This record gives sequence, C-alpha cells and structure tokens, in this order.
Amino acid sequence: MRCPFCGNADTQVKDSRPAEDNVAIRRRRFCPACGGRFTTYERVQLRDLVVIKSTGRREDFDRDKLARSIRIAMQKRPVEADRIDQMISGIVRRLESMGEADIPSKVIGEIVMETLARIDTVAYVRFASVYKNFQAADDFDRFVSELRPTTE
Ligand SMILES: [Zn+2]
Repeated sequence: MRCPFCGNADTQVKDSRPAEDNVAIRRRRFCPACGGRFTTYERVQLRDLVVIKSTGRREDFDRDKLARSIRIAMQKRPVEADRIDQMISGIVRRLESMGEADIPSKVIGEIVMETLARIDTVAYVRFASVYKNFQAADDFDRFVSELRPTTE
C-alpha cells in the first residue's frame, strides 16, 4: 500500500485487527521512508454500485467519499469512531441490498440523513445543510425550526 504522505510504495503493517463487528479488518500502517502512519480497512464488497448524479452523470460509488462527508458532519460530536464506522457500513450494506446497481445520489443522501437523524441531530443538520445546498439563511432557519430532535 502506497504511503499517502510521501508516495513510497513500500509501507509496513504494524497491527491488524477485526473492526466494525468483524465485517472489516483494520490495519495500522507505517511508512519507513517518512515516518507517516495511516490506517486501511479491508472489507467485502458485495457488488459494484454506480451513483447517478442529479445531472445524470454516472460515477462509481466511493465508500471513502461517503465516509468523509459523514465524518465531517459528525466532527466533535459525542459519538465514538467505531459507532460512526458501523453506521457507514450499515448504510453501504443497505445500498448494496437494494437490488439495483445504479443508485441515484438523491437516494444515498436520503438514507444518510435518515440514519444521521436517528444518531445525532446536530450531525444531521450539518449534513442536510450541505446536502440540500441551502443558499438562503432563511431556508436554513426554517429547516432547523422544523427539525424534531430524535433520541434513541
Ligand atoms: Zn511516507
């Protein structure tokens, strides 16, 4: 696995352990060239999903991209990293089990919002504000005022 920091092709695995309820293997890696440390995950990929953008453009589904947007929404929220990983895996499994290889980006956004709404209202608002691309502050305020906080 190539080092994401310096591009060195030869990195070492320092630690491997099951993660996310044994659906993934988490590896801690070390780059001897620059001293960088990073983590990789190995997972079963049941099928190749294609995202259909609102413009009609097709794009391979990218789990990392989805995870990134969710982690940004969850930043500094009192939810454990493992729980966030499980949530992301749950979303991906749901997408994979929908029976369609082509999934409109809208559907993905709605599933993410539905999931976030159950877990953390603040993260939900953050994600939704980006996702729905609120441009007028009025819209955003109205959206927030209509939110019903949900707790588990
Ligand atoms: Zn490196």
